[in-house]
Amino acid sequence: MQVDHSYARLPRAFFQTWQPSPVAEPEWLAFNKALATQLGLPESYWRSAEGLAVFAGNQLPEWAEPLAQAYAGHQFGQYNPRLGDGRALLLAEVIDCDGKRFDIQLKGSGPTPFSRGGDGRSPIGPVIREYLVSEAMHVFGVPTTRALAAVTTGESVYREDAQPGAVFTRVASSHLRIGTFQYIAAQGEPDHIQQLADYVIERHYPDCKEQDNPYLALLAQVISKQAELVAHWMRLGFIHGVMNTDNTSISGETIDYGPCAFIDQYQADKVFSSIDRRGRYAYSNQPPVALWNLARLAESLLSLIADDEKRAVERATDALQQFQPQYEALWLQHMSAKLGISQPSPADKALIDDYLQLLQQHEVDFTLGFRYLSGELQGSAANQASDLFAQPEAFNSWRERWLARLALQGQDHKALAVQMDQVNPLLIPRNHLIAKAIQQAELHGDLTLFNRLHKAWQTPFADSADADLTAPPKPEEVVQRTFCGT
Ligand code: AMP
Ligand code: MG
Repeated sequence: MQVDHSYARLPRAFFQTWQPSPVAEPEWLAFNKALATQLGLPESYWRSAEGLAVFAGNQLPEWAEPLAQAYAGHQFGQYNPRLGDGRALLLAEVIDCDGKRFDIQLKGSGPTPFSRGGDGRSPIGPVIREYLVSEAMHVFGVPTTRALAAVTTGESVYREDAQPGAVFTRVASSHLRIGTFQYIAAQGEPDHIQQLADYVIERHYPDCKEQDNPYLALLAQVISKQAELVAHWMRLGFIHGVMNTDNTSISGETIDYGPCAFIDQYQADKVFSSIDRRGRYAYSNQPPVALWNLARLAESLLSLIADDEKRAVERATDALQQFQPQYEALWLQHMSAKLGISQPSPADKALIDDYLQLLQQHEVDFTLGFRYLSGELQGSAANQASDLFAQPEAFNSWRERWLARLALQGQDHKALAVQMDQVNPLLIPRNHLIAKAIQQAELHGDLTLFNRLHKAWQTPFADSADADLTAPPKPEEVVQRTFCGT
């Protein structure tokens, strides 16, 4: 196991060294053996008492030098100058078998100097959600933090009511956020913001060093990564739910799976999070919000981009203007692929938009609406999208346009259907299933459904799956609201 603590070598203003608080009676919830192997973790941790103690925060391994990172952030548009790891601790950085560096972080490991009155703990519900969804996102090829371990604590956590507590171990290419830059920039130490930017360039974007203006290049890289990330979310119907600048990673990974959820019935302005009352983080608002967040990063970098502030603003603005065209090109690529179109032209946007509008008007499930399109190409046996529409006439006229577009590619329908089934999942982490898994674990400590879902979501493009996992929620099962559980 190759370990380093590069973040701890940054100025003391960037973090606080701190220890996890032990828990009463830890028990295993889950352990990601494949990821542990990739990271070179000792095999003695494999579901052993030693591993349990480490991932509960009860025993500090010799490779850990725990610290809480400082950061600020705009939460729902409101600036908070001091957030930081209030219930998380970075244990170490590990260099994996491919030479890539990853943070290992405990979440729910007790209060820190950044807890602001919070208990530093996490209920089991958010731990289960993050474990399932982050690992599913990884399978979907979406940049994301990973789940390494989860343990229950044997202690209660008090939110609206008492809930079983849990500690989650997260792996990320780093936990640096836009909020990290905001925090350091606000401290007003010119050396510090440069040290942070240099650190990030070294760790994530080393090519920037070769550029005329490395800090402008850094901004441009983060902009591209966020455009890529949000395009992935949109193709899957994923709603992050808390796109605050402190939850926007510099590496472009999905981070902080709080009230996140996948859309069932398609609705462009869908919101799940109970605290997102104005729909700031609605599905369709995710691209503009990502850009808004990137503008906050740009502000934090201005002093490094140019000595003259006006000049710096111009250059940063030019960089930010690249977001929209980049995002749109990626969105078009992904969404066209979902329709079987391999080389989209801008004219294909209307075909996609019209299909989304049809799904919305006819209250059709987003995932099946796309997945069952391949059935239209395969004839009678397969599931067909037209079956999802109560009045198929509207679908049928769209279908003619779509088939005419596909005919231009001159591709065999069978091959096309196979290709589409590789980008349109049959299975997504549906909210009602996650809610059921959480309920069973909360009430009875029963992990059967959690384990079943985790396994099923490893192969989301399978030809078939259990009907109860593929079906949209029944009316009485629909989850209307999700909660951060913080
Ligand atoms: P989050 O909603 O998880 O992104 O958290 C936003 C901020 O609140 C971060 O600074 C967290 O560390 C902090 N926070 C969230 N939950 C807790 C908690 N239970 N105890 C202490 N701090 C918390
Ligand atoms: Mg957060």
